[in-house]
Amino acid sequence: MNISPVLLDDDPDMFDYNTFSHGLYIGGQWRPSSDGRHIKVVDPSTEAVIAAVPDATLADAEAAVEAAAKAAAGWRDTAPRKRSEILRRCFELMTERAETLAALISLENGKALRDARAEVIYAAEFFRWNAEEAVRISGEFGLAPSGANRIVVDYQPIGVCVLITPWNFPAAMATRKIAPALAAGCTVILKPASETPLTAYALAALYEEAGVPPGVVNVLTTSNPGPLTAAMLADPRVRKLSFTGSTGVGRVLLAEAAKHVISCSMELGGNAPFIVFDDADLEAALDGAMVAKMRNAGEACTAANRIYAQAGIHDSFAEGLRKRMTALKVGSGTDADTECGPMITGKAVDKIDRLVRDAVGRGAEVLCGGAITQGRGYFYPPTVLRNVPADADMAHEEIFGPVAPIARFEDEAEVIARANDTEYGLAAYIYTRDLARGMRVASKIESGMIALNRGLMSDPAAPFGGVKQSGLGREGGQKHGIAEFMEAKYIAVTI
Ligand code: NAD
Repeated sequence: MNISPVLLDDDPDMFDYNTFSHGLYIGGQWRPSSDGRHIKVVDPSTEAVIAAVPDATLADAEAAVEAAAKAAAGWRDTAPRKRSEILRRCFELMTERAETLAALISLENGKALRDARAEVIYAAEFFRWNAEEAVRISGEFGLAPSGANRIVVDYQPIGVCVLITPWNFPAAMATRKIAPALAAGCTVILKPASETPLTAYALAALYEEAGVPPGVVNVLTTSNPGPLTAAMLADPRVRKLSFTGSTGVGRVLLAEAAKHVISCSMELGGNAPFIVFDDADLEAALDGAMVAKMRNAGEACTAANRIYAQAGIHDSFAEGLRKRMTALKVGSGTDADTECGPMITGKAVDKIDRLVRDAVGRGAEVLCGGAITQGRGYFYPPTVLRNVPADADMAHEEIFGPVAPIARFEDEAEVIARANDTEYGLAAYIYTRDLARGMRVASKIESGMIALNRGLMSDPAAPFGGVKQSGLGREGGQKHGIAEFMEAKYIAVTI
């Protein structure tokens, strides 16, 4: 696999399709966009243009749907064991090439290499897990209550799927959709984020090597996602939209899909509370907070966005977090010892800066960080704020950066009410030594996922997803992830 991405020195004409395989990937062919335009890819650590990828047109999107539709029957009829073995091979190749893939993710996304390595392992695991699930898809058989007939339920692939993914996990957000879709027998068109297309294309080359037939996975990048997605959803052969991204874009896409009654899975934004009770193991809670807040430098939908510490532990927790955040090594994602890389864009830095200024303006106290880092690259320093008031914008919006806002609380009922005071409901974290309290609070928090005495919950074997404005449907888990890509067919049988 050739993934050396740097052929470009701010000049799209230097892009060479013969030596560099990142064209649009349609029907097993690498090709330029039909109008020859490109999207530049920037290294967020240096702001340098590192590559360019084709900017797909409506005609390219039509070609991708055509390719996916053409490949559909062959893939649907491929034996589950064969599909499973191809998925397993994808897992093996990703694992063998983990270092190269991690370097590529770091380069285009900016995340620290250690986070990129963890992402590759997580992303590959979706192939292993779904390889195991592909051969276990089963139906149902029963007697109708009237006794008149048998009820047979067959699960069939839903059809051609459009998959849209964000930049914050360029590998894992794609494999979390592609692996179950392929296990279910569907063909797909992936539209990755234009900030991080290189990983998507590198993985497409890897799928091909693993034996995924032409047209089963198609990848296109575009700077014009709205009209292209609308055109693909308007094609009656497309039956599924699986989207991961912001709640705002999710709403637009749900409206678009509604026009054609297309099945939707939506993995949207979050505003995770991180709750530390007085009886928590302080060191464990700090370890967990660093993971929940700082994985991917805070650019995660599950990132702790509001930290609530009970009055008795509040001061020692805030001081412990300040020490740990101050000690983090900030730098280019690709430097081996970096612990906190840059943000994805200058716009993302500006948003974080706005949220911090707003909180400080409303009375929050800065314990460390708190101001944009000057110089090249989209850096924002690890920041801890305390006394962040409930009306601060960051209590209601995703920070998506290395900022930990702490607020004090007195009792359980109060913190549950505050944790639920958000339109989101994706992830939540609870630290307490009292398991009964942990389970009680977990059951009352309006969230699709809870981590109890842990800073991380993502696992391909568990259902990932949110409630409220955080989404619809689940990815991963026993049956859940694949079920999103299948339709139940009921056959009434008289024997
Ligand atoms: P985004 O919504 O801006 O973009 C996501 C994807 O949608 C990108 O590929 C983008 O090009 C595309 N897109 C944008 N406008 C579109 C349109 N009109 N039609 C079709 N596609 C369009 O999100 P982002 O900034 O890339 O990612 C960050 C967001 O993703 C955060 O809100 C984060 O919480 C969320 N996220 C959620 C999960 C989850 O599993 N729930 C996981 C990761 C990220």
